Order: sequence, then structure tokens, then C-alpha cells
Amino acid sequence: MSRAYISKILDGVKANHPGQPEFHQAVEEVLMSLEPVLARHPEYEQNAILERMVEPERVIMFRVPWVDDQGKIQVNRGYRIEMNSAIGPYKGGLRFHPTVNLSILKFLAFEQVFKNSLTTLPMGGGKGGSDFSPKGKSDNEVMRFCQSFMTELSRHIGPNTDVPAGDIGVGGREIGFLFGQYKRLRNEFTGVLTGKGIAWGGSLIRPEATGYGAVYFLQEMLKKKGQDLQGKTVSISGYGNVGTYIVEKVNELGGKVVTLGDEYGYVYDPDGIKGEKLEYMSTLWAVYRKSAKEYADKFGCQWVAGKRPWEVKVDIAMPSACENELDGASAKTLVQNGCIAVVEAANMPCTPEAVEVFHEHNVLFAPGKAANAGGVATSGLEMSQNSIRMSWTREEVDGHLHRIMKDIHEACYTAAETYGSPGNYVVGANVAGFLKVAGAMLDQGIV
Ligand code: GLU
Repeated sequence: MSRAYISKILDGVKANHPGQPEFHQAVEEVLMSLEPVLARHPEYEQNAILERMVEPERVIMFRVPWVDDQGKIQVNRGYRIEMNSAIGPYKGGLRFHPTVNLSILKFLAFEQVFKNSLTTLPMGGGKGGSDFSPKGKSDNEVMRFCQSFMTELSRHIGPNTDVPAGDIGVGGREIGFLFGQYKRLRNEFTGVLTGKGIAWGGSLIRPEATGYGAVYFLQEMLKKKGQDLQGKTVSISGYGNVGTYIVEKVNELGGKVVTLGDEYGYVYDPDGIKGEKLEYMSTLWAVYRKSAKEYADKFGCQWVAGKRPWEVKVDIAMPSACENELDGASAKTLVQNGCIAVVEAANMPCTPEAVEVFHEHNVLFAPGKAANAGGVATSGLEMSQNSIRMSWTREEVDGHLHRIMKDIHEACYTAAETYGSPGNYVVGANVAGFLKVAGAMLDQGIV
């Protein structure tokens, strides 16, 4: 019965959103976990909860014209997907990357609904961005692009309506330009964006939050198995914000991160990224806008062009770059090499085949919507601080973040047990995230 309902919804999504494979993948992954929930709660089907959840509340698409340093007019496309506002204002990042399209953003917005629900904070789900690439652009070009992008986006967002933040290609620099333009257009200083600078409404620990949070989640999973990070080796695929703070936290807990990478390849540093090397890693993109290869050149490490780091033998893998970067074959290699845990620090980095391999071989697997929720959770804490016009100390924010990640772990673990899939964090995260949103939608009537 509930299986037939799920199939009907999946067929509908494929028919109504043709040519959007990433969106189909994200919806399928969530829905496949929900069978026992739908069987126990017939009211969800009776009230068309799934039909409503897979249809974005609003999709905004717009032209973004801007002038490059040569005086030539460039045109990009801008988007904001406002997916679900049942439990709070739409909340989610902006991605500036050439691969951005409706499929990518709908998948990210859909994931965000459940992720934000898991954080325990009152945030709905949204995502946006543009096919604009900040790579190779001057600061002035990025500023002109951001100003044009915000000129249109500003009509659709607000501190109680929709609160964007960063994602791939959108960091402190971009958030600054976007915030400046919003303030100028609306003549108001509000918490309309998160990831702001500390001097103008930002929160301490927000830059560290996704990386720290993913490691806190890992710590909890290991704890359930009577293990910890002491002496463990870890591979990561990115080299930005998320990767840098994973390294910092893993080092603090006695582990060692031996890879970093970008879309061109990966660095293998068997001695571990630490001290001066970690310092350099943290500035590579944020300050110098350079490729991960520079790290290999500077410190005399191996650079493996055109590959992902999953062939390196490690205890734990933490994919931290982009969707579908770890496939079934890579998963098998990790398993053969004795990997005991995989934590998705990025959004949907493991393909469905990879996840199946990990489950088959009893590898601890943490899905992104739970493991990388620390970033948006701390965005929620930034919103709280903005609302009360106060700033909390590092210790206060980190304390909240740590507690939230422990709570998310516990919620996933318990939901997986309650619904018949003990130890399956994919089922746990999807079910726990879903129940809160579905309950709120029922309470609010047919909207
Ligand atoms: N882009 C991040 C994510 O995927 C953060 C979103 C936010 O802080 O709103 O969760």
C-alpha cells in the first residue's frame, strides 16, 4: 500500500520534472526510507503530504546581467527555490558554479528541508544560486555580479521570509557584497543573510561549523561502537571551509587527515595536514584563490591529477566537495582498504550504489543531511543572535553546535531503531527529518 503510494509519487516527480536526475535521486533516496512511516500513518497519504513536499512552494528564475573588467556585458541565470516553509522561513545556501541548474538546486533545496528539520531549529528549506563561476574573476567582477544578482533576489527574501547563506562558490566575500547591496536597496540592516562578517552581524564559529559538526557526528557514531578518532587516518576531497575545519577538529581529537583535493585532482600527504600546512590550506582558496595542487608543489607532496582521493587507504572517508563524487567502484575500493566509516560532509556526495556498498559491508555511513547540518544549524544560531541583537562567545556557539550534533545523531539513531532499520543512519535521518515537517504541514491545513 505505502509502496504503491511511493511509486506513484516518484513517477510523478520524474514526469513533472523531466531531465532533472539529481532531483529525482534526492527524492527517491528520502521516499525509499519512508515506507514503514507511511504504513503507520495513513493520514500522510490521505492529506497528500508527499505530493505537496515534492512540489516547491515557489521557483524563482531571473536574468543577471553584469559588466566584466573589459567593459563587456555578461549574462548569467539566477535562481531561488523556496521548497518548504512549514517549520520556519526558507533557509539554505546560494551556490555559484557553472554546473548550477534547476535539477541541482531542487535536489539541494529538497535535502535542505529535512536537514534543517533535523537541526531542531525553526527553519524551512530553500536553495539558490547561479551558473556564474567566481573562479578566475576579479574582486570587482564578483562584486558587480553579486550586486546585480541581489537587485532581483532582494524582492523575494527577508529575515522572516527567506534567509540565504553560502554554499560552493559563495563565501565571506560574496556574502559581503550581497549584504551590502540588500542593505542599500531596502535601507534596513537585518539578518537577511547568514555567514556574515563578525563586525556586521555574523556569528563566531559559523566558518568552522560544517567541518566541526561533521566530526562531532562522526565522534558520536564511533562512540556507539566503542571507538574514537585517536590514531585514525582520514581522507577528504575538498580544500575550502568545510575541509579546513574537518582537519582542525580531526587533529584536535588525535586523528590525521592525509588528503585534500579539488575538481582537478587530489594531494596525498601521508604525514598529515597540520601546523604550517594547515595554515596554508586555510588560505589557499579563501585568500589566494588557488588550486589544491599548490599545496603539493609547496610541501613536496604527491599530486594525483584527474582523480578523487578514495583510492587512498584510510580508516575514515569524509567526502566534502560536491554531489556524486564517490561512486560504487570507489566505495568498493574503500571497503577493500579497510575503511570503517564514511561521513558525507558535502551534499549527496555518495551515489546510491556507493551507499549500498557501505551498508552491505557494515561500514558506518552518515548521510549529509545529518552529518553536515552543523553549518546551517549555526546559521540558525546566527539568526537568533541577530534577532536579539547580541553576539555569543565562541564557547557558547560551539557548545550549542556540539549539543545539536549530538541531538541529531541521537534522533537519527532512535528513528532508525523505531522504524525497523537499526544502525541505518540514512533511514534514521530521513524519517526523523520528515516527521517534524509532515506534522507541521498537517497542523497548518491544506497550503
Ligand atoms: N549551504 C550550506 C548547507 O548546505 C549552509 C546553508 C545555510 O547556512 O543556510 O547546508
